[in-house]
Amino acid sequence: MPNFAWHDGKKIHDFETSTFLGTNPIKFCDWEVITLFYSALHYVDSYLSNAFSIDFVANHDDRKRWVNSLLPQINRIYLVLYYLSRDSRYNLSIGAPELTKAKSCYAQIKQVLTPVICPKCGFKNLKNTGKCETCGTTL
Ligand SMILES: [Zn+2]
Repeated sequence: MPNFAWHDGKKIHDFETSTFLGTNPIKFCDWEVITLFYSALHYVDSYLSNAFSIDFVANHDDRKRWVNSLLPQINRIYLVLYYLSRDSRYNLSIGAPELTKAKSCYAQIKQVLTPVICPKCGFKNLKNTGKCETCGTTL
């Protein structure tokens, strides 16, 4: 099974792919949306592994259930990005408005799922609660 480190690498790789595709934004904005979604997916899997020791996510439906129950703060935007990615692959022609929406969802997901390093004790806080889990410093 892919582990935490693998997901950590893939989330960066997929974001870099999206950025690379963005150098020709009109032509590849559908694949920019798709690679943003897959980067977000690996942010989720990495977080589930690291914060909840969930190392096996079977498929998209399984992941959506975990996000709904354990990460309610990103549930809606994750689904928006999921459906934009599906539309990019199978249904619609994707343009600048959809890409802008996907970038906004992605930025919010990344912000919530990126660990916060405590400036006082250096602890890597996985859950963004506003306070350091170790020393209580307001983050
Ligand atoms: Zn601390």
